[in-house]
Amino acid sequence: MGSPVNAVGLQDSFGRIMGDLRISVTDRCNFRCLYCLPDTEEASNFYRNQQEDAGSKTAKRLIRYPWKPKKDILTFEEIERFTRIAAGLGIEKIRITGGEPLLRSGIADLISNIRAIPGIKDVALTSNGFLFRRYAQQLKDAGLSRMTFSLDSLDADNFEKMTGRKGLQDVLDSIDLAKQLGFDPVKVNAVIIRNLNDHELEDLVQFGKNRQISMRFIEYMPLDHAKAWQKTMVITGREMIDRIQSSFDIEQVPPSNPSETAKRWKHKDGQGEVGIIASVSEPFCQQCNRLRLTADGQLRTCLFSHHEHDFKAHLRDGSADQAIIDQLKTVVWGKESGHKIGHEDFVQPDRTMSFIGG
Ligand code: SAM
Ligand code: SF4
Repeated sequence: MGSPVNAVGLQDSFGRIMGDLRISVTDRCNFRCLYCLPDTEEASNFYRNQQEDAGSKTAKRLIRYPWKPKKDILTFEEIERFTRIAAGLGIEKIRITGGEPLLRSGIADLISNIRAIPGIKDVALTSNGFLFRRYAQQLKDAGLSRMTFSLDSLDADNFEKMTGRKGLQDVLDSIDLAKQLGFDPVKVNAVIIRNLNDHELEDLVQFGKNRQISMRFIEYMPLDHAKAWQKTMVITGREMIDRIQSSFDIEQVPPSNPSETAKRWKHKDGQGEVGIIASVSEPFCQQCNRLRLTADGQLRTCLFSHHEHDFKAHLRDGSADQAIIDQLKTVVWGKESGHKIGHEDFVQPDRTMSFIGG
């Protein structure tokens, strides 16, 4: 029987070694995605209709998300220190996310400082793309090369229904600019939800193919603030790929590393790639090497954890690095074997995706 103290780097009790840290730099967002921070009339109507169709009488009221006070959000210095310590223990890949990370002023400076940390080999950023054009060059100059955008619809009305904002053209322009500036890869995430945007699946594949972009189709996960998720709204990865295969000439690509979240297919004519992230129907917990630091300095060992581990306290109380190293090793050792979506005893965590960082 091992122990966290003897563990190599950040190893858990199941032998998984952590290499990937996702950092949410803010819980705030300028969008109100229906599957994340729903608060519009349209979102409310969608969920009400789905619930009525499913025979449920308890329609969900959408409750506005209370942003965390700024004093509770980690400073860039605190994030950088935590990242340096984690890198010393084997973390190599960083994804900056949120909330909307481009709302955090000075984000390019954070990226450039994280890139300079010894051991960090890869820094990526996930954004809804609305503000990207304003910061694109700064981000590039800071050394960011990997960009992931979120785009769930190519129809202006449906885009507004899904995000709560008018902004389709801004996001499309951002994606094009990222390609022009040479960000590589440029990926686009789309959450596919039954009766909402599932009719756009093939158009979104064609969009990626036209631009030679990696499209990532994500199953809707129970991480919405309204807790209105229902299994019936999930289009499974199997269903998505069956449909895509019947319209496009694609072939499966072997995983580039065992902890990859997406199963990937490439267009046989070389025009881009399609990935499926089937976290609900085909969880990939056995290979999970990811940790998540929330905007307020809590470490989560799983998207669906019910327990968080407070690192903000140590980062603010004058603790030496060794105390943080010891805490980190102990927390990682206790990482859960996997999540329980689909099990009868699954309980949705209180924190939303916007806080955890997707
Ligand atoms: N605001 C940025 C954005 O939307 O790209 C970054 C943060 S967002 C939480 C990161 C990713 O999580 C997005 O691609 C979003 O589509 C995804 N996401 C959010 N809520 C989700 C849910 N309930 N199920 C599946 N994916 C979700
Ligand atoms: Fe904001 Fe991203 Fe959540 Fe949409 S998915 S509400 S853009 S944090």
